[in-house]
Amino acid sequence: MNRITLQTELQYLPGGGPRRAELLAKLGLHTASDLLWYLPRDVLDLTEVRAPGELVEGEVQTVRGVVVDRDARQLRGGRTLTAVLLDCGSDYVRGVWFNQPWMLQRLQDGQNLLFSGKPRRHQARWEFSHPRIQYLDPEDTASDGGVIPKYRLTEGLQLHELRNLIRTAVEECAGSVEEWLPEDVRSRLQVAEISTALRQVHLPRSSAEYESGRRRLVLDDLLEFQLALGLRRRAWQDRGAAPALQASAKIDARIRRLFPFRFTAGQDQAIAEIVADMGREHPMHRLLQADVGAGKTVVAIYSMLLSVAAGFQSVLMAPTEVLAAQHWETIDELLEESRVERLLLTGSLSAAQRREAVDRINRGEVQLVVGTQALIQSDVVFPRLGLAVIDEQHKFGVEQRARFSGGGAPHVLVMTATPIPRSLCLTQYGDLDLTVIRDMPPGRRPVTTHRVQSRAQQQKAWEFLRKQVRAGRQAYVICPRVESESATARDAAAEKVYDYLSRTELSGFRVALIHGRMERDERSRVMGAFRDSEINVLVSTTVVEVGVDVPNATLMVVLQAERYGLAQLHQLRGRIARGLHQGYCFLFSDSESEDALERLAALESTADGFEIAEKDFELRGPGDVLGTRQHGESPLRVADLSTDADLLEEAHAVAAQVIDAGSLSHADFAPLRRRVLQRFGRAFDLPQTG
Ligand code: ADP
Ligand code: MG
Repeated sequence: MNRITLQTELQYLPGGGPRRAELLAKLGLHTASDLLWYLPRDVLDLTEVRAPGELVEGEVQTVRGVVVDRDARQLRGGRTLTAVLLDCGSDYVRGVWFNQPWMLQRLQDGQNLLFSGKPRRHQARWEFSHPRIQYLDPEDTASDGGVIPKYRLTEGLQLHELRNLIRTAVEECAGSVEEWLPEDVRSRLQVAEISTALRQVHLPRSSAEYESGRRRLVLDDLLEFQLALGLRRRAWQDRGAAPALQASAKIDARIRRLFPFRFTAGQDQAIAEIVADMGREHPMHRLLQADVGAGKTVVAIYSMLLSVAAGFQSVLMAPTEVLAAQHWETIDELLEESRVERLLLTGSLSAAQRREAVDRINRGEVQLVVGTQALIQSDVVFPRLGLAVIDEQHKFGVEQRARFSGGGAPHVLVMTATPIPRSLCLTQYGDLDLTVIRDMPPGRRPVTTHRVQSRAQQQKAWEFLRKQVRAGRQAYVICPRVESESATARDAAAEKVYDYLSRTELSGFRVALIHGRMERDERSRVMGAFRDSEINVLVSTTVVEVGVDVPNATLMVVLQAERYGLAQLHQLRGRIARGLHQGYCFLFSDSESEDALERLAALESTADGFEIAEKDFELRGPGDVLGTRQHGESPLRVADLSTDADLLEEAHAVAAQVIDAGSLSHADFAPLRRRVLQRFGRAFDLPQTG
């Protein structure tokens, strides 16, 4: 037989053959090398398996056996009980399921499997109620050392067949995979050579060995990504010189005088970092993170005015029209007495208005611009752009962070609406420097939040709300969405809710409705009336989620609260934490879902947006939190941010050292550098040299 190399096609591998090769091709596997990189999803650790005689009550444990008997019967009250008898060699154990009659089909006599769960003694036998099941192949024996890697399969391909092929590939060619991590990096990360790591994940002799191999592969994944982000950050800096915007005590005093309050220590610190950045010719590329209401916008405005004072343009881009309008109103009001030339540019200007606005920007007459994505259309050219503030809200993301047209490279400040967990920050925003504001403006009291479940509790909440409104406060009632064709009877469509509440709980009050499908003019009229206290209660869909700042509004009822994400609810209640009065948020929900209960409980128990962000991440995972579920794939291949966050920190630190030391241009880093560019060069627009 010919020697097996990395390039050997799978049909020529022992145990391969044309038919199996076809199946493997469905998994994207064509060569021996592909097999090496086809990593296990997980491992099954049979070394932890206990004999029935070793079981104890109340701890999660695993037994292994063969199904020898199954039956299902009706209990009183229409419930069913499905029971399975497992022969574990030395003794039998039982598995039982209530009201899951389909379990009878999922388990066949003669099947080899594992039960995991907390057993209890029942009629002289150990019984697992609703155990976790893992199916074993007949070849899954403890003779392999008892740790069995599990791979994703395809119809017609057995696990043991795939494992045999992978074993051959590893034994014959793992040694010829060329190492790309310089020894120095390997020792800093304390990882094995790549050939060893591959052996460890595919042919582990213990769980620890598997974990150690996996650790290397996860770190590779994360390190390459962090290096790409680092290169991207450097490419930003090399793109061109930004204007070095010098601040002076006089300018500082002039800007601060505009605000009717003193900045918090956190705001001062943030401003100091930004001022230092903007004073250099390297373009700033900084992320400003803070909880809702901590005063990010204020910091952004300060920075924009600094750029204006130095004779340059500045621009603030928001993800939605409502938010752009809100920023605009704040800024316009603040600058009422000033001569700063400014305008709002959104998609809803008429063609003529837009033409005129764009002309004025292009001629450099306008010093400060607020807008939406309409700002990055190609005809909008900023001849003297000093600073671009991007209010990001997770909508733009690493790959398509906005670019403005004009000469040179402006300083860039990115803001997020709510805090995001650190691990996501390092991936999504790993190419930015980070500023965090931790404190809140003085006098802010955390919103008191209650989950409201029963009819009686609801009535009490409405009663409380009426009392507060009579005392002069204002309120929001948030509903999931407007009337829609697909609405089920339970849907709390805004229009229905509005009709209903106006007639019942809120009759006698001035109630108005606002939602996303209303005409823009109508919407701003209603918003204006609410702001001027002409309206007591605003029934709204989440259009108010961003962009309203009404200090007298201190009450919020969220209907069907289980429908919202944790971060979104936190952001919503941020709307009522703004004034001098205590805010109250009532989360109406009759959901029994464990997940929903946990989310609502988290909101009741903490007001800290950073804590909420971590919790949200824990509950929903990275894809949903970042919205990448809809917006494309995760950039990571092996790492799982929900479990590998600590490795991310390590990779981040080492990548930063490598980039700062300029090591990537050294010869021994060439293979690593090539990998990084191959993976991310195009997506991140990285220069291929330097
Ligand atoms: P964020 O953008 O972080 O949600 P904003 O900048 O919009 O927060 O500020 C929220 C509210 O707090 C605004 O009404 C703002 O005027 C006010 N505010 C901001 N900073 C301070 C401060 N240092 N002292 C008092 N009020 C402040
Ligand atoms: Mg704001």
